[in-house]
Amino acid sequence: MTGGLEGYDAVAEANAQKSVLAIHWSRICERLKAEVGEVEYRTWLRQITVGPVEEDEITLYLPTRFLRDWVRGQYGDRLGTLWNAEVPAIRRVELQVARPGSASAPAQADGAAAAAPANSEDAAPRVAAAPALAHEEPRHAEVRSDLAAPLDPRFTFDTFVVGKPNEFAYACARRVAERPSSPGFNPLFLYGGVGLGKTHLMHAIGAELLREGKVSVAYMSAEKFMYRFIAAIRSQSTMEFKEQLRSVDVLMIDDLQFLIGKDNTQEEFFHTFNALVDAGRQIVVSADKSPSDLSGLEDRLRTRLGCGMVADIHATTFELRISILEAKASASGVVVPAKVLEFLAHKITSNVRELEGALNRLIAHANLFGRPVTLEATQDVLHDILKAHDRRVTIEEIQRKVAEHWNIRLTDMSSARRARAVARPRQVAMYLAKQLTSRSLPEIGRKFGNRDHTTVMHAVTRVTELMEQDPAFAEDVELLRRMLES
Ligand code: ADP
Ligand code: MG
Repeated sequence: MTGGLEGYDAVAEANAQKSVLAIHWSRICERLKAEVGEVEYRTWLRQITVGPVEEDEITLYLPTRFLRDWVRGQYGDRLGTLWNAEVPAIRRVELQVARPGSASAPAQADGAAAAAPANSEDAAPRVAAAPALAHEEPRHAEVRSDLAAPLDPRFTFDTFVVGKPNEFAYACARRVAERPSSPGFNPLFLYGGVGLGKTHLMHAIGAELLREGKVSVAYMSAEKFMYRFIAAIRSQSTMEFKEQLRSVDVLMIDDLQFLIGKDNTQEEFFHTFNALVDAGRQIVVSADKSPSDLSGLEDRLRTRLGCGMVADIHATTFELRISILEAKASASGVVVPAKVLEFLAHKITSNVRELEGALNRLIAHANLFGRPVTLEATQDVLHDILKAHDRRVTIEEIQRKVAEHWNIRLTDMSSARRARAVARPRQVAMYLAKQLTSRSLPEIGRKFGNRDHTTVMHAVTRVTELMEQDPAFAEDVELLRRMLES
């Protein structure tokens, strides 16, 4: 399955294979989890690490012989079937006990966490660390490694693409990295929807500060903060926990919304927060909402969080999505045609993580199979993602947009009025409903004041004809279609 890859260097090839396998494996894991349940999955299957593919066989590692035998007996066939469904070239699964320290053995998940996105460290299925990343491990000397999660070396300011939706947050993050604890920027509160770059910016701040080497930085998710705190209570070591936390120069807590409803932990965080700020240390916090919208957070904490700089990251725009795709494609060294980038930016609008995931899969496929990226290949390789992102336009939305466009009342979409000023837009709405939804003609008719399906059919024919005859009209309809689709 590595045919046609002459000319790629071995490390790049191994990495490409690893990232494509990681994508497949995470989907298989989702399936398995759904099939066997969370507990079973965690007990047995999460221990699996993906090894290399040779010919038609993939090797999976388990840490002990017992686990290997159990998984082989219970899940061996199922694993084979799932892998084959994902990657038809894979026909067999070989289960091995990992030999720690040997070249082919996977890195231990904890030790390799620096190479994996830190924000998914607990949930992510394990895949052997890519050799190239192992060389790029960040400096840990100044990170409170006993306390903090490692920083992802890919998340730096250099790799962050700046555009309108995130420029303010970016500028604030840069500022804090340059001059921590400046008045007005402490705490820095970053908020925005999932996958828009909050964690990336926090890691970038950390990486920048560590590069200077002058300060100690602790980064962790709020969830981890909570677990650490609870563990400290259990082991009666809360004093140490507190001291450790209060000795850092910069404390970053990611996804603070997880502390909602966890009163003890909030209380502890509040005290840590105050102690650090009073001592002139920097705090950086992220959440999915602004401080004032984080209901369930204690008022005094909320107030303090809003006291420094609050910066939001907005949903991406088409322009930003294109810039991000361009940057990531060019960094990958794989040629991705502009048409493909536009297609992706148009189709995957939810967040950067999904956009990146789609592009990575394309790149990995191109590397693995040595084929150029084309629009057809893209649609093929990503068909499941694209399907999930196909926006479902409703007939109501279509009616509203069309009515707005021609300045008629929404009720006229279902009224019996036949004046052309009303009837034409209504026909266009029917036409678009046929084009953009999976509704049948009778269903569409019903939504337009219980009209007959032949009326809808007539509308579709009429609008098609008119579009052919009248370019200005065609442009109007196309514009509406694009607005509804985006
Ligand atoms: P969040 O923490 O807001 O959920 P992340 O910081 O984890 O989002 O970002 C998700 C993914 O998208 C990461 O891989 C990150 O590198 C990438 N990403 C997000 N925004 C940008 C950007 N502006 N430029 C480059 N990559 C980005
Ligand atoms: Mg995050």
